[in-house]
Amino acid sequence: MRIPYTGPLPPPIILPRFANTPAGATHALTKFLSAPGPSNVHDSPPNHDSTKTVLLTGAGISVPSGLADYRGTGGTYTLNRTYRPIYYNEFITNHEARKRYWARSYLGWTNLHRARPNAGHQAVKELGKLGIISSVVTQNVDSFHSMAHPELPTIELHGYLRALICIHCHNQLPREEFQRSLSTLNPQWAAFLEEMLSVGALDSENPAERRAKGLKSNPDGDVDVPDAPYTTFRYPSCPTCLANPPILENGTKARVETDSDGAWSTNSTAGVLKPAVVMFGESIAPHVKTGAEEAIDSAGRILVIGSSLATYSAWRLVKRAKERKMPIGILNLGGVRGEESFYADTESSNEGEKGMRCSESADKILPMVVGKLSGSPAYQTGEVQQDVPIP
Ligand SMILES: [Zn+2]
Repeated sequence: MRIPYTGPLPPPIILPRFANTPAGATHALTKFLSAPGPSNVHDSPPNHDSTKTVLLTGAGISVPSGLADYRGTGGTYTLNRTYRPIYYNEFITNHEARKRYWARSYLGWTNLHRARPNAGHQAVKELGKLGIISSVVTQNVDSFHSMAHPELPTIELHGYLRALICIHCHNQLPREEFQRSLSTLNPQWAAFLEEMLSVGALDSENPAERRAKGLKSNPDGDVDVPDAPYTTFRYPSCPTCLANPPILENGTKARVETDSDGAWSTNSTAGVLKPAVVMFGESIAPHVKTGAEEAIDSAGRILVIGSSLATYSAWRLVKRAKERKMPIGILNLGGVRGEESFYADTESSNEGEKGMRCSESADKILPMVVGKLSGSPAYQTGEVQQDVPIP
């Protein structure tokens, strides 16, 4: 994954012109999702269903759940221009970098762990039940799609924070279990976390509110603590490698050692756990990349929700859809990278069926679209009780 495009974006296109109000946007998106399948889509595979829509979602859909955005008005790239995430190579080679990463992530996890899918995710579930959505490709690592609609195929393009993966034996470990180990290994940090929680410093991911309480946070779910002793932070070894050291590439058995409390020791040659997300400088796994491309190819149109397509892997998928002549819909607050090229040839008589673009929030518009498409009055007013299961 490359560092996202951070240059200025154009003002959002509104298409058709009446999509500049919530009611107009709802009308256009309803037209878009219910139009007959386009007949001129190129290179369709055998399982292709041109009446269905593939969704591509980004950080914007999770903002109403209380998570930070990268590019919005309260976003990390807008407010914190010196923000620099950890790189994959740095993580796997550098024990000191890992200590710093895990210390910040230890504090940041609480907010993500407590956050829940919102009305936007719930509406996606309903659109799936109506047979409108073929699958979801998400850039988000918060697992909200799989929580809200486990029955709808979801490809997590950039992985997920709910688990760790061992960089040596590739076994996964649930994050909750890892988090408990971090608390045990770092009692002073556990006490600091308790204190931050009690003063409410972690109740918001709004960077300004957090800074006011002494914290800085980033959308990966990690937190900066000024002057905190990262050097003393300890993290556990992969339990599988510890129990059964793997064979290394050079054919020798790995050495996996811990201190008396179970913290990973620098004498080890394996047993390093990494969050199961795609870090900057790390490649997306080939099966995930192919799966995302197949998800695009097997649908008749694509709807982008809450993404400015600043990340190359997401932008490339929309470009692929455009090359296949799939109609493109975008529901995103603010501008989107390269969007003028997506709509250059859309006819002026289009009411949404050939493409739509609005600058609205998904948690407001999607429930109203579900209402129109299902005839449910509760959805038409946008006053729907959420029944998202707590995992
Ligand atoms: Zn392992």
